Order: sequence, then structure tokens, then C-alpha cells
Amino acid sequence: MNPIPYLPGRTETHTATVRDSKRITPKDADEVRQIVLTLDEAPHYYPEGQVVGVLVPGPHPFGNPYHHRYYTIAHSEPADHGVALELLVRRCFYIDEVSGERYPGIASNHLCDARLGDRVTLTGPYPSPFRMPADPASNLLMLGTGTGIAPFRALLRQIYRSRGGWQGVVRLYYGAKTGTELLYMNELNNDLAQYYDEATFQAFQAVRRNMLADEGDALRDGLADHVADIWHLLQAPNTHVYLAGMHKVAAALDEVLARAAGSGEQWQALKQRLIEERRWSELTYH
Ligand SMILES: Cc1cc2nc3c(=O)[nH]c(=O)nc-3n(C[C@H](O)[C@H](O)[C@H](O)COP(=O)(O)OP(=O)(O)OC[C@H]3O[C@@H](n4cnc5c(N)ncnc54)[C@H](O)[C@@H]3O)c2cc1C
Repeated sequence: MNPIPYLPGRTETHTATVRDSKRITPKDADEVRQIVLTLDEAPHYYPEGQVVGVLVPGPHPFGNPYHHRYYTIAHSEPADHGVALELLVRRCFYIDEVSGERYPGIASNHLCDARLGDRVTLTGPYPSPFRMPADPASNLLMLGTGTGIAPFRALLRQIYRSRGGWQGVVRLYYGAKTGTELLYMNELNNDLAQYYDEATFQAFQAVRRNMLADEGDALRDGLADHVADIWHLLQAPNTHVYLAGMHKVAAALDEVLARAAGSGEQWQALKQRLIEERRWSELTYH
């Protein structure tokens, strides 16, 4: 453990070793890697769905000594002397608006480039931004894209395995560019299929309908196909909403539900009520 005084609120780091790293999306798709890290010394509990920070030592642009980004724990289990954590990491790039040049995202490329045996510096774990209702009769509406599936997988495991079942309606709407990019719901890894027999659970996958569309567009079209059910679910006073993945998830939902509500204002009023009643949780990023 080393002190890191320049990150307010974060006083210690932990070193993890890369044990496995494999690409789980096809060559012609955005690269997402499933990365397994082990911590020999695991003084904290690292439950699935919580978040770890990845600290990339500098120097970095603009004089930043460290670069720090968050990743959701998709799976965790005891390892030899500590704990093994599985992360789903999308390799990010961004285009500089001024020069037009393409730059690699620092933390995601640091993780995706790491070889077996490499050491990675972690902070946390931090609590999941998802607020779980105590009442198992609550309805859960989950909407996401891409690596946003990691917290949903953790949430499903929590309600159906750790808590032993869920009586409320549980709906997952998930958008991807192609079928193989439906993470944990494709032929290579179909982990979510274990919940398909649960009477209260239903998953709806949406893939893009044209080559120019992205996963956010796919989700929007998928939501539009089921808008009556979603709208009905949102009227129940015990429905909780969870958004995860790209920022476009929120935009997709806003667009579809503004139409269902009759106007953007009416949808925003309902959304505001969900937020005020603490029935709205977001874990979205660029
Ligand atoms: C709670 C939480 C959980 C998350 N979980 C996951 C997860 O499970 N998996 C996952 O893949 N991601 C996850 N993320 C996103 C992740 O934390 C990172 O934001 C993402 O990987 C990009 O980080 P990076 O360091 O690679 O990119 P960065 O280097 O930070 O660049 C990313 C973005 O920063 C901007 N930017 C940075 N520098 C410049 C510049 N010079 N000019 C213009 N724009 C710039 C751009 O908008 C760019 O898109 C999560 C985020 C949060 C908040």
C-alpha cells in the first residue's frame, strides 16, 4: 500500500497482477477485453458491481502526475492468497477537436496493452452507483450498451443468486452493433442465459439496423419496439431504473419516452420524479 496524497479522498493503492486478458469482440468491432487481475493482499472486500480505480503513473499531458479512471468489477472470486477480479474494458480513442488527430485513451489502453504478469495499480473499491431496493417485489428496469453489461450481470447475480430470487419484474434492454458484441449474450459467452428460466426476468437485445448506426441507435430502436411495456412499467410506483454504458443510453431513452409521454417536458417531469424518489441510477461514461 502506498499513500497517494494528491488524489483527495483516496489514501492508498493496491497492486494487482494481470492473470488473463482476452479480446471478446470480433476483429472488425470495437475492442473489448475481459481482463482478470489478482490481488495477493486483499484487505478489502471486492464485490461484483462495485468499482475499482486504475491509476496510470505519469508523466501525462497537461502535467498530470497520475491518470485515474474507474472500471466496474464484472466478477470477483477468491484466488490463491487473495482475490481475482474480472473487468470488461473497451479500448478507447478520442479525436482532438483542434488537430483532428486520434489519441489513445490512457487508462483503457494501459489495461488493454498489459501482458500477463504485468502489475497494475488500483484504488478503491468504491460502492456501485446502482441503488438496490430492499423490497424484492420492486420492478427493475435496466438499460445499457457495451461494457455497461458488467454492472447488470453483477446485479442479476445478486438478486437471483445471493438473495435467492426476485418477485418484481426485471427487464434488461441492451444494445450493440452486432450479435457478437452482445457481451455475455453471444455464442462465445452466454453467461446471462442462466437467468432466462427465472420467471420474472426477460432480456431484450437490439442490434443496429444499418451500418452507420452505433449501439446507442440500436438501443433506441429496440426501446421503441417495446415502448408500451416500458411506459407501463414506469407508471408503477415501485419501478427502479438503471442506466449503464455509453452516455447515449440516456439520450436513447429520452428520445423514445418523450414520444410515449406526448412531449419532452412530460417525460422529463416523470424522470425528475424517479430521480427525487431515488429510483433512478446511472453509471454512464464516454
Ligand atoms: C463508475 C464508472 C464505471 C466505469 N466502468 C467501466 C467499465 O467497466 N469498462 C470500461 O471500459 N469503462 C468503464 N468506465 C469508463 C472508464 O472509467 C474510462 O472513462 C474509459 O475507459 C476512458 O478512459 P481512458 O483513460 O482510456 O481515456 P481518457 O484518456 O480519459 O480519454 C477519454 C475521454 O477523455 C476526453 N479527452 C481526454 N483527453 C482529451 C484531450 N486532450 N482532448 C480532447 N478530449 C480529451 C475525451 O472525451 C475522451 O473520449 C467507467 C466509468 C465510470 C465513471
